[in-house]
Amino acid sequence: MSVSRPNNLDAYWMPFSDNRYFKAHPRMLARAEGMSYYTPEGKEVLDGTAGLWCCNAGHGRVEIKEAIQKQAAILDYAPTFQLGHPIAFEAAARIAEMTPEGMDRIFFTNSGSESADTALKIALAYHKARGESSRVRLIGRERGYHGVGFGGMSVGGIGGNRKQFGALLPYVDHLPHTHGLAANLFAKGQPAEGAHLADALEALVALHGAETIAAVMVEPVAGSTGVLVPPVGYLERLRELCTRHGILLIFDEVITGFGRLGTPFGAERLGVTPDIMTMAKGLTNAAVPMGAVAVQNAVYDAVVDGAAAGIELFHGYTYSGHPLAAAAAIATLDLHRAEDLPGRARAIEPYWQEAAHSLRSLPNVIDIRDCGLIAGIELAPRAGKPGARATEVFRRCFDDGVLIRVTGDIIALSPPLIVERPHVDRLFGVLGEAIRAEA
Ligand code: PLP
Repeated sequence: MSVSRPNNLDAYWMPFSDNRYFKAHPRMLARAEGMSYYTPEGKEVLDGTAGLWCCNAGHGRVEIKEAIQKQAAILDYAPTFQLGHPIAFEAAARIAEMTPEGMDRIFFTNSGSESADTALKIALAYHKARGESSRVRLIGRERGYHGVGFGGMSVGGIGGNRKQFGALLPYVDHLPHTHGLAANLFAKGQPAEGAHLADALEALVALHGAETIAAVMVEPVAGSTGVLVPPVGYLERLRELCTRHGILLIFDEVITGFGRLGTPFGAERLGVTPDIMTMAKGLTNAAVPMGAVAVQNAVYDAVVDGAAAGIELFHGYTYSGHPLAAAAAIATLDLHRAEDLPGRARAIEPYWQEAAHSLRSLPNVIDIRDCGLIAGIELAPRAGKPGARATEVFRRCFDDGVLIRVTGDIIALSPPLIVERPHVDRLFGVLGEAIRAEA
């Protein structure tokens, strides 16, 4: 099937894009099914990135499409401020069945960015409700990505995403990132070295005082800045320090949720339970935008029971719990259960890991790392042109029918969890050829 190309590319200001390059050299995706995208001309492009880490159940799932269509015919929209509609409650209950025990209270948003800002606001409200109003400081981590709202951007640790925008949130500090190339080269799964990096939180407590710190927010596995897998013992140590100092631990599970690491959430795979957890992307298989924040019941109880009569949390979105998104979420979670998507990810992980590490001896490959169905391949930059080599690899792969994602000179891969061995072979085969060609 072919789909016509748009005639006018001017009006759309594309997000996180080189608009000028794209509009001169457009690469369009017009349709998708299963493991693949198709260009307007009908050329297949194997999806090595589940869209943007989000189509975990594969593309074009009929069950999700039908659930959205059915819901649109029943209730297109209803407000959720002081009113409710059944499917939003049902979706929340279904998510609560998947989250770690005791994290049964779910706040709906529309994206990962909104989930990050919501989580930070809940943390602040929690301390205030408990009479600890001095806890206003938010701690993130270098190279952390928590979306593009002012909260997530400030707590996030990506210079490029911050420096265009002047003053950010005050009272924010950062832990060092955990990317230890020298100590952990070509590590398979969690790297051995680096648990001590969590001790930087002790230093921040000594500097600012625990009584000023509300929350620490980290991604269990950082994806956007190039697949940074937590060293063995690191998250455990962070958990211990947060508990000791009364600081809430927030996991940003926007990419690690919904089976990506072979378990429903990264928390389970990595053996550490946070107080608050953000999610989005895979929640609806990306068919309708939706995010959510899950909190420990005690966090909800403190904010809700601790409030005077009336509205307990002055926060929410017109589209929180949108009926079409709720329908897509339920259908997606049904697929997760029926097809055991986390189990599929676990089953193919060893093959995936070996395939990723088979690129080790290619020119300019300086590191490879993986966790669950994520792989990062770091390339040596071209002299004086950071990011150029990986961008050229990306373009070559696309032209050869494979979609990868690059961030700087790091290639990040995260296929739909329905990936099978022949897809893995093709993905790494085409990528390997492209890396060789750009040597
Ligand atoms: N948090 C993490 C860890 C992410 O990877 C992303 C997006 O990639 C976000 C937050 C932001 O999500 P969104 O683009 O839906 O706002």
